[in-house]
Amino acid sequence: MRVLVVGAGISGLFIAYELAKRGVRQVTVVDESYPGSGATLRNLGCFRSSFTSPEHVVLMKESISEWLKLRSELGVSLEQRGYLWVARKPETVEAFKRLVGFHHDYGVPTRIMDVDEVRELEPGINYRIVAGAMLDPTAGRMPILENFIKLYLRVKSLGVRVLPYTKVLKLEGSGSRVTKAVTSRGDIEADVFVVAAGGGSKRILKTVGVEVPIVDIPRHPLVTEPYLEAIRSALIIDWDTPGSPHITQNEHGSFILARDLEDTPETSIFSQRVDAFPHIAKPLIELLPFLAKVNVVRYWMGYYDMTPDHHPIYGPLPPYENLFIAAGFSGHGMMMGPVTGRLIASWILDGRPYIEIASNLTAERFKTGRLVKELAVIG
Ligand SMILES: Cc1cc2nc3c(=O)[nH]c(=O)nc-3n(C[C@H](O)[C@H](O)[C@H](O)COP(=O)(O)OP(=O)(O)OC[C@H]3O[C@@H](n4cnc5c(N)ncnc54)[C@H](O)[C@@H]3O)c2cc1C
Repeated sequence: MRVLVVGAGISGLFIAYELAKRGVRQVTVVDESYPGSGATLRNLGCFRSSFTSPEHVVLMKESISEWLKLRSELGVSLEQRGYLWVARKPETVEAFKRLVGFHHDYGVPTRIMDVDEVRELEPGINYRIVAGAMLDPTAGRMPILENFIKLYLRVKSLGVRVLPYTKVLKLEGSGSRVTKAVTSRGDIEADVFVVAAGGGSKRILKTVGVEVPIVDIPRHPLVTEPYLEAIRSALIIDWDTPGSPHITQNEHGSFILARDLEDTPETSIFSQRVDAFPHIAKPLIELLPFLAKVNVVRYWMGYYDMTPDHHPIYGPLPPYENLFIAAGFSGHGMMMGPVTGRLIASWILDGRPYIEIASNLTAERFKTGRLVKELAVIG
């Protein structure tokens, strides 16, 4: 079976990895740029299963457990230091309590912390403005470049062909089958086509008359100079401030700060927003006053490939029987990489997803209106 995967980000490479592991010999991955050049190498590397939809919770739990297994399988590294969801308002603590009940129903061990516990865990926090918090102890972060390179090298060693700088200009189909991809470096024929091209997926799919609602929404994280280890949690989220400002400290000691900033969808990746600096830094300095003395050294821009219900689009794309999608991760695609790979491989090879709940995430939902709700999108 010849499989062509479009997009060499975390999703495309995990799909290729799972297919190759399951014995598919002719897997090709193409990317219009270099592997990881999309959202993948622009992300924060954080992971969690403390979501608000059963679909996300079940799939993230599975994905985290796969990531943990990949420590020995691929040599990737991860730190489960927890996510701290900070509430400034008492009513938010009450909402967190209800969410904890939901998480426990799905086996996610989140718990509520009072102000003293928050202070003990994160001594740098200005506890005077905190009403309480929710801790997700199974959440964490990972070094994205290191882990991505390990996956890339393993995929190559399994015999997968990875072709950088090969842009898919269009797909061509006949009846119920896609027959070839017309690329900037010639035509590629295959038996199965998987589009895992982030926001670019919708442009590719449109060429065979398939519409998917994915919009590239700009994000603007700030990076500071390295600093002594000053936060213990993998991510601290200021949940009561609009745009949910959040902060992580990476393996080099730098803090990465981010917050949702109103911006034009699909705006150029080269655009810059100087106003992002005070917008992001101010609430986080209020929450973690020591940050006032830490210098921002750089800034980058990247896209969340967003769908209307903030869940990915997975699975087959009728009317074509050999066309599949894995895109629209809405800010969660790095953590979902392993489960994405296994789901798409099972859809292709077994005709159905190996986790049933993933069937709720096909493109069909946008036609039927059966959207899935997710309230805990950070940033
Ligand atoms: C600032 C920021 C922070 C984030 N933080 C996190 C986080 O902490 N945790 C988390 O899980 N996720 C996070 N994300 C989201 C995560 O980065 C993405 O969901 C994930 O990387 C998506 O991976 P992907 O492989 O599906 O898409 P991408 O990485 O975007 O890969 C798609 C690839 O397709 C290629 N492509 C596009 N069009 C074509 C074409 N026509 N022909 C050939 N190739 C094409 C692109 O070049 C690209 O390399 C964050 C994102 C951003 C921007």
